Amino acid sequence: MKPVGPIPAGYGALGGELAIAGRTASALVAEAGRTPLFVYSRAHLDARMAELRAALPNRVGMNYAVKANPHPAVIAHMAPLVDGFDIASAGELALCVAAGIDPVRISFAGPGKRDDELEAAITAGVTLNCESEGEGARALAIGQRLGKAPRIAIRVNPSFVMTGSGMKMGGGAKPFGIDAERVPMLARAIIAQGAEWRGLHIFTGSQTLGAEAIIEAQANVLALAAELAEAIGHGLPKLNMGGGLGIPYFPGDVAVDLPRVGAALAERVAHLPLALQQTELCMELGRYLVGEAGVYLTRIIDRKESHGVTFLVTDGGLHHQLAASGNFGTVVRRNYPSAIATHYGAEPTEEVNIVGCLCTPLDRLADNAMMPRAEVGDLVAVFCAGAYGATASPSAFLGHGPAAEMLV
Ligand SMILES: *Cc1c(COP(=O)(O)O)cnc(C)c1O
Repeated sequence: MKPVGPIPAGYGALGGELAIAGRTASALVAEAGRTPLFVYSRAHLDARMAELRAALPNRVGMNYAVKANPHPAVIAHMAPLVDGFDIASAGELALCVAAGIDPVRISFAGPGKRDDELEAAITAGVTLNCESEGEGARALAIGQRLGKAPRIAIRVNPSFVMTGSGMKMGGGAKPFGIDAERVPMLARAIIAQGAEWRGLHIFTGSQTLGAEAIIEAQANVLALAAELAEAIGHGLPKLNMGGGLGIPYFPGDVAVDLPRVGAALAERVAHLPLALQQTELCMELGRYLVGEAGVYLTRIIDRKESHGVTFLVTDGGLHHQLAASGNFGTVVRRNYPSAIATHYGAEPTEEVNIVGCLCTPLDRLADNAMMPRAEVGDLVAVFCAGAYGATASPSAFLGHGPAAEMLV
């Protein structure tokens, strides 16, 4: 038997079924007209943002990292809730613009911005988080051709990492950002050549659950930003401090102690170094804002035995939920939180392997999990599906096509 991860708060049962926003899984599937289906819950998005606003000092704004979930209805729902949007492509820029988001609220990071993407961003007035000297030069040249000063911040590759981070995005040789020691020279050059100077972006890691690690990373980020701001000598309009707050996916994972992180940050913000006292501060979060708001629903299409093992074969799989299958940046496969949605809360009575419909042994949703008995036609729910699901999975693989998505 292998345990499944912890089911996020806020999901209940209704008539023996999983309920999301007060509606049963089968009612939601009926409305969507098909499975597999990603359901995103407005109530969860609202609750998470309210928790963050309550815990963090007012001085620190919140950006949404769109790549976590770029579904148009999710972007539109987040628009009035957050202060800014972090994008990583011209495609995400188009989605934000279509959702009516003012480009002044948008910043664009990512290590390989094409000229046409830089042009779209500069034309719209988006802040470029510059990832290299070469990109800075291209942005300035494009700005000159357009007759428009590019708004440029510099993404710093810090010399430290966030300890306990699931995905390290700084420290040592990295394709992201500019090594800290080269930042002052580049910043001065960019400013001298007429860019609108927007400040610094320091992102140290992702999927961190430990409050101490987050607190330490934030302290390091503020100290580095102050040091760089002094070396640049132009005042620092804005500092994007990164984020990296994780969510519990696996057995034993414990949620971030958000009040503790917020209290430590409030204390730091109350005693900022001189170089940062006029600086606008923000954090950027993806999965922490949207991950627990999503549930992936798939239907059991076969129930079979092999060498004494029961397999529940679903119509979903890694083509929509690569991360839950264990093939997106994990070393040892563990079970995401999952359940039989149509027997929600029922006593688990049998050990099953829940698999997807793809013809590869990689396509697993839950291994050796204890579940209530399920038959063909029952629905399986995989939780923590609100981030890096639909768009971070190879949906063209094997030709089943994308899942349906709905915000409720
Ligand atoms: C991916 C990414 C994020 C979001 O990461 P989460 O773990 O989803 O919070 C934020 N900032 C940058 C620069 C990123 O690349």
